[in-house]
Amino acid sequence: MINTHMEQAKQLLKKAYGYDSFRQGQADVINALLNDDDALVVMPTGGGKSLCYQIPAQVKGGTTLVISPLIALMKDQVDALNQIGVQASYINSSLTKEEERARLRDVQNNQCTLLYVAPERLYEPHFIQAISQTKLSLIAIDEAHCLSQWGHDFRPSYLHIKQWIDGLDDRPPLVALTATATHEVADDIRAHLGIDENKQHLFGFKRDNITFRQIKGEKKETYIPHYVSLHQNQSGIIYTSTRKEAEKLYDRLNKSHRVALYHGGLSEFARTEAQESFVRDDVDVMIATNAFGMGINKANVRYIVHANIPGTLEAYYQEAGRAGRDGEPSECILMYQAQDLQTQRFFIEQSNGEPSKKQHDFEKLQQMNRYAHTNECLEQFILAYFGDDDTSPCGKCSNCTRTGEKEDVTRDAQMVLSCVVRLKERFGKGIVAQVLTGSRNKKMEQFDLTNLPTYGLMSNRSAKDVQVFIDFLISENYLGLTPTSYPVIQLTEQGLGVLKGKAQVFHYKEPIEEAGEGDNQAF
Ligand code: ADP
Ligand code: ZN
Repeated sequence: MINTHMEQAKQLLKKAYGYDSFRQGQADVINALLNDDDALVVMPTGGGKSLCYQIPAQVKGGTTLVISPLIALMKDQVDALNQIGVQASYINSSLTKEEERARLRDVQNNQCTLLYVAPERLYEPHFIQAISQTKLSLIAIDEAHCLSQWGHDFRPSYLHIKQWIDGLDDRPPLVALTATATHEVADDIRAHLGIDENKQHLFGFKRDNITFRQIKGEKKETYIPHYVSLHQNQSGIIYTSTRKEAEKLYDRLNKSHRVALYHGGLSEFARTEAQESFVRDDVDVMIATNAFGMGINKANVRYIVHANIPGTLEAYYQEAGRAGRDGEPSECILMYQAQDLQTQRFFIEQSNGEPSKKQHDFEKLQQMNRYAHTNECLEQFILAYFGDDDTSPCGKCSNCTRTGEKEDVTRDAQMVLSCVVRLKERFGKGIVAQVLTGSRNKKMEQFDLTNLPTYGLMSNRSAKDVQVFIDFLISENYLGLTPTSYPVIQLTEQGLGVLKGKAQVFHYKEPIEEAGEGDNQAF
């Protein structure tokens, strides 16, 4: 029975979609769903999650309800399904009442194999009423990380899914799908939906065709236009953390490049225009806030530049993952400037979550900051963050290919670490740097810090320079920061080892700052 179902699935893959074989993971998930099992699927962007439920939906017959937050994408998906002869439709706010009724009638007459809705639909009594009279054969929940408070894109509307599902007498199998979930988020999703731990399908996060790079100490206003010039006629996305910044960059690039702008402050019309011109390759570059990109199916994106540090590594990896869906070599660049970290802190402070949620967000931001400063392989760092420790250095990221010589900075590190201890782990980065450089700032007197033995120990360096060094020590885990809006520096286990002379600290002499494609010109 199962085999014949799987046979049917393979035939559909070939006949309807034109593909010869299932990708890694797709077959497992499809098999599970055809067996009436639940599944949590964590698969990278571009991995082929849609087929995981579209094919079982067709084999099972009846109606599969697909819950997705992406209203803009529903129509595309439904059109694509209709084109291959599948009865699919969506219900969202763009429809008239009449159209909505007609579509629900189709569902009740068993003439709709896949019905796409946004989570908000699930608190509309008449929709719930209509759907309760239908035998659902499968429920698919896309972008399932939106269910978790610990995810980077929690959406309260997703809690209605849980409520609705909990109320079902005879719930059909569930499949929850996401591209970005740490173990913690995956556990949370399963707990919400009541999916067993052994029903989890996690697939490699590694994206072989993507190269990660970091750019520090460069001005975005000069670096980005130059980078774009070097990548003429290639498709790329530039992410900024604020609308204002997106507009500024847009104005700058618009003079000499084919660019589009996308952020939440623009009209729906303007956003649709921008998105379509990017997808159609009428423009090369999309400059956007994180409002852009979820569900965009554009295969030939060659680069993603983050002009500002994002708030979490999940968000970063999800946005970066929009590069190279066609499997061709692509590049993801993170630009780092200390003040951008402040912007993210501000976002967290302004958010109206519980204190525990804020603390969690600060911790995530610190992980992101550690990524920005690490000396390890960038790919390994990301994979380890998502729980995959069994990796080797990628050999191509900007850390792996660094040519600068290693410098022993143990002594400098010891000075900083001992200063942190002297300050009794009560102060932030700014004060630590000021003490070390012997600043005359009035706070030094005010807190009675000028008499400390470490006061002025690094007076040959600037406070800014020392702050950069402290960032490095944090990223290498010699120092830690409290997860608060005014982070206080603390010594870690590893830092203690250095202070006691048990371990050495190395730093690369020159940072790698080049514009890509072998161009070493400074600008
Ligand atoms: P995701 O939702 O995981 O980001 P999609 O479902 O949009 O990914 O699939 C990404 C691309 O891969 C699509 O163009 C899809 O048609 C293609 N694809 C999916 N499965 C296969 C397969 N088995 N063989 C070849 N291409 C596939
Ligand atoms: Zn690497």
